[in-house]
Amino acid sequence: MEFSSRTILNAYKVLDGEKLEEKEALALIETGAPYLMDLYSLADKVRRKYCKESFMTCGITNAKSGACSENCSFCAQSAHNPTGIKTYPLKSADDILNDARKAKSDGAESFCLVLSGRGYEKPDEEFLRILDTVTKVIQETGLELHVSPGILSDETAKMLKNAGVSAVNHNIETAPSYFHKVCTTHSAARRILTVRAVKKAGMKACCGGIIGLGEGPRERVEMALALNDINVDIIPLNILRKIEGTAAKSDTLSIREILNTIAVFRLVNPGRIIKIAAGRESALEDYQGLAFHAGANGMLIGGYLTLGGRSPEKDKRLIESLD
Ligand code: SF4
Repeated sequence: MEFSSRTILNAYKVLDGEKLEEKEALALIETGAPYLMDLYSLADKVRRKYCKESFMTCGITNAKSGACSENCSFCAQSAHNPTGIKTYPLKSADDILNDARKAKSDGAESFCLVLSGRGYEKPDEEFLRILDTVTKVIQETGLELHVSPGILSDETAKMLKNAGVSAVNHNIETAPSYFHKVCTTHSAARRILTVRAVKKAGMKACCGGIIGLGEGPRERVEMALALNDINVDIIPLNILRKIEGTAAKSDTLSIREILNTIAVFRLVNPGRIIKIAAGRESALEDYQGLAFHAGANGMLIGGYLTLGGRSPEKDKRLIESLD
């Protein structure tokens, strides 16, 4: 379906609770001048209608770094990618608690423990330590606690829920049909199984991915639809910033491509939190604020896993200026 001036008018049906078809989303993601602001304005209206004023700020800690057995091409933590990052085993509960206090003082409402590695299909000794740490952080900070543990089984997902975890981050990373170009040590289907286990256990699924991995608009639309299909709650969108030593094909996306992706993700996933994460500063430059008028309603603050972010004060000022 070709883009025409009627494409955006037709997409107003999302405000009436109707869904976009794949071919409609694909035409929209290709929107160019002079219709860009029409697309972003519609995405903003959809966000306001379905999410009201909710805005999520999330801080993370790299609680266990590097040496991962999996070969995700973009990831600095993979042992297959010679990135030279600092690797270390699971941090102590006290160190993680200090990171949580810092995130809280930076303005984060939720805090996520990110753990490098394939995951926890069985509750081993390290997993039990994570459960103890989670309980301690919740008791002492009152933050909403999230975990990014890799692959989970029904059993380990349930144990995280019982320990007080509110949400589990496990990204599908890209379109399921494109995933084999990004990773061959596990499948998109295995990732989706974990997301289903998280939902089944009664936690929120924080699940999104990375754009700029060499995928095209068709794959970005496929990813947005797949996330809607598995009914995720929070969609983190990262924009690839290639790290020296990683195998990912680096594809520099234009600001238009990034903002159009955010807007179409909003139209396909009307009521979800769409959280802009790593890469936003360098990829969007002066247009970061526009992302939050084009459908996004959350951000990761205080730095990323292996890359620093900008100062929390700057992000606070940006959030306050959005009203
Ligand atoms: S499984 Fe996670 S930590 Fe391991 S390489 Fe892939 S993205 Fe990185």
